[in-house]
Amino acid sequence: MKTSGNTPSSGLVYPSSSGEPFDSMEISEPNSLAVHTENVCRHYQMGEAVVRAVDGISIDIRAGEFVALLGASGSGKSSLLNLVAGLDRPTSGAVIVHENNLAALSREQLAKYRLHTVGMVFQSFNLIPSMTLLENVELPMRFAEVDRHERSSLARESLDRVGLSGRLAHRPTELSGGEQQRASLARALINRPKLLLADEPTGNLDSRTGTEIMELIRTFNQSLGMTVLMVTHEQALAEKYAGRMLHLADGNLIADVGNGDVANISSAPSPAPPGETQ
Ligand code: ADP
Ligand code: MG
Repeated sequence: MKTSGNTPSSGLVYPSSSGEPFDSMEISEPNSLAVHTENVCRHYQMGEAVVRAVDGISIDIRAGEFVALLGASGSGKSSLLNLVAGLDRPTSGAVIVHENNLAALSREQLAKYRLHTVGMVFQSFNLIPSMTLLENVELPMRFAEVDRHERSSLARESLDRVGLSGRLAHRPTELSGGEQQRASLARALINRPKLLLADEPTGNLDSRTGTEIMELIRTFNQSLGMTVLMVTHEQALAEKYAGRMLHLADGNLIADVGNGDVANISSAPSPAPPGETQ
C-alpha cells in the first residue's frame, strides 16, 4: 500500500527541552511521512558469503501510525529497524526519517538524530546495572547536555508516566522484568522522540506483563502522537495493537497489510484534514 506521498511540513520543529509537559509536546503533522525507505539493502560480508539481511525494501510510514514488523527469525526485522534507528548504515538505498536522509548525516548529526528523533526499546531492556532507575532514565538528557534539575524533573515525569515513581532509587536487578521494560520505555520517552522503535519489546515478558507494556506503547502512540515501528514475531500481538503489518521474509517485504480492527492513525490532537498544511 502506498501512502499519500504528501511532503512533510517544513514546520516540524523538535520541541525544546523547556520542561513543558509531555501532553503538550509538538505532534508531527498527521499524514506527513515519518519513515521512508527506498530500495534499502544491508548485506553482511561473511568471508566468501554475503548475507542479504535486508534486500531492497521500500516502505512509507506516516506520522502517527502504529506499524508491526513481522517475520520469522532471521528474516531481517532487527537489521531493518537498526537502519531506521541510525545504528547501522545501509549497503545501498536510502532511509529518510522526518526529512533526515540518514546516509547524508555526519557521525555527529547521526548521534543527534538518535538522541532526539528516535527512542528505542529492546527485548533485553539494556539498562545500566550500576545506575538507579532515575539515573538510567536521565542518561539521554545528560548526553543532550540538559541541566541537572531539568533532567531530574523530566526523568521523574517520564518514570511517573510509566507508573514507576515509587522505584526511582532502585537498580535494574531489584526490579521485575516488566518494571525494567517500563523503565526502558521511560528512557526512550525522555527526549520526546517522534518515532518509537521497539525490537520484540515483550519477548522476555510473560503475557500479562507484555500486555501492560503494549498498553503503554499504545498510549504513547495515541495520546502523544508518537509513530511506532515495532518488531514482533507474534501475529496476535500485531493484530491487537498495530494498524498495519509489514511481513518480511529473507530480507524482502512480502506483504503490507492494513488492520481494520485498529485505527490506522492515532487520535493525535487536532489532526489537519488530509492535503492541508498547518
Ligand atoms: P531478525 O531480527 O528478523 O531475526 P536479523 O535482522 O537479526 O533478523 O538477521 C537477518 C539475517 O542477517 C540473519 O541471517 C542473521 O544471521 C544475519 N545477520 C544479522 N546481523 C548480522 C551481522 N552483524 N553480521 C552478519 N550477519 C548478520
Ligand atoms: Mg531480531
